[in-house]
Amino acid sequence: MNTATDVLVVGAGVVGLAHAVEALDRGLTVTVVERDSRAVGASIRNFGHACVTGQTGDLAELAHLARERWLDLDGRAGLGARATGGLAVARHATELAVLEELAAARPGEVALRTADEVRSELPGGGADDVVGGAALLADLRVDPRVTVARLAAWVDAQDGAEVRFGTAYLGFDGTRAHTSRGPIAAQRVIVCVGHDLDHLYPHLAEEHRVERCALQMARAADPGAVVTPAVLTATSLLRYPAFAETTSAAALRTRMEADRPDLLAIDANVMFTQRPDGTLLIGDSHHTERTVEPFLDEAVTETLRAETARVLGVDRLRIIERWQGVYASSPLHPYLVAEPEERLSVRIVTSGVGMTIAHGLARRHFPN
Ligand SMILES: Cc1cc2nc3c(=O)[nH]c(=O)nc-3n(C[C@H](O)[C@H](O)[C@H](O)COP(=O)(O)OP(=O)(O)OC[C@H]3O[C@@H](n4cnc5c(N)ncnc54)[C@H](O)[C@@H]3O)c2cc1C
Repeated sequence: MNTATDVLVVGAGVVGLAHAVEALDRGLTVTVVERDSRAVGASIRNFGHACVTGQTGDLAELAHLARERWLDLDGRAGLGARATGGLAVARHATELAVLEELAAARPGEVALRTADEVRSELPGGGADDVVGGAALLADLRVDPRVTVARLAAWVDAQDGAEVRFGTAYLGFDGTRAHTSRGPIAAQRVIVCVGHDLDHLYPHLAEEHRVERCALQMARAADPGAVVTPAVLTATSLLRYPAFAETTSAAALRTRMEADRPDLLAIDANVMFTQRPDGTLLIGDSHHTERTVEPFLDEAVTETLRAETARVLGVDRLRIIERWQGVYASSPLHPYLVAEPEERLSVRIVTSGVGMTIAHGLARRHFPN
């Protein structure tokens, strides 16, 4: 492009691409710059789970806006988004109490399931102690390892759009974005670099207390049966606000502190999703710091593997890959919307819900 692009988006993760889609839908020209030769950040390392039902308030509104956009984009770009719903498995009365309370409050979104119904969704017939569960009807799934690349290719193929990989953004002087491959004239820049905000705008990262949350993940061999929904367990009920804000959640936490200090010690969210090839994405643990150690603790992987095998009701679950995921985290707010300079915007999801809300964030907070 010889003329200035209307919008230059920095970062080809889900947040950057969501803003590129929004720019296109508004009839604007857009250039996306991504420092790597393909996106390999948080957006490909996660479960691919849009946890819509698990949100409340503002996040729930963003999640529903995003859900619409995932389904709409699926039609336009063939992303493979699937309205599978989620399944919360209850293995104790304290877990079932949380689900019953939520189902009573949100009957259209949360449907209780019997123990037999839950077991029928799990390859090994589920754990012996399954007492019931709930279907989380609004949840969606994508395959994170292909969806972001497909979305980038789709954006790049649109008139007035371009995605430039291998191009690192260095700064904006008001008319030109400076990159590792030279300047790009732009009317506006939207920075969507996730946890690397401190590399570009350290004062903004400090002001908003943006740190890195590191998570251990693993991929397990195909358990030999189809698992359609994203599967959540007790620790998920302590994490996502729709569950954690029920009055029953206090008793669940007390019981988990007594029975499962090993899971709480690694701040686990034991959950899994199945990829199209049958393998399971299983996770995860959480550790937050400004700079995180890259080393994976084998004991953490084993805790997550063993707990997943128990929930599935299988004797053997073979791990075939391990990796660390990192996302931006702030104790102040779940996402950051900032305009640090004229015509320069920053959009970062600062909690573990970027796959759930990115498209909603772009729709509601696209800079004018
Ligand atoms: C293990 C794990 C599990 C998760 N599970 C879920 C889940 O189940 N549901 C959910 O909703 N969310 C989940 N999340 C959170 C979600 O993945 C993130 O919130 C989301 O992917 C953040 O997207 P992003 O585009 O901001 O970041 P990223 O995907 O990290 O993208 C940022 C991009 O910016 C690029 N970049 C950085 N600096 C520059 C520069 N100077 N110039 C050019 N490019 C640059 C990077 O290379 C990167 O590609 C999970 C995250 C992890 C790590």
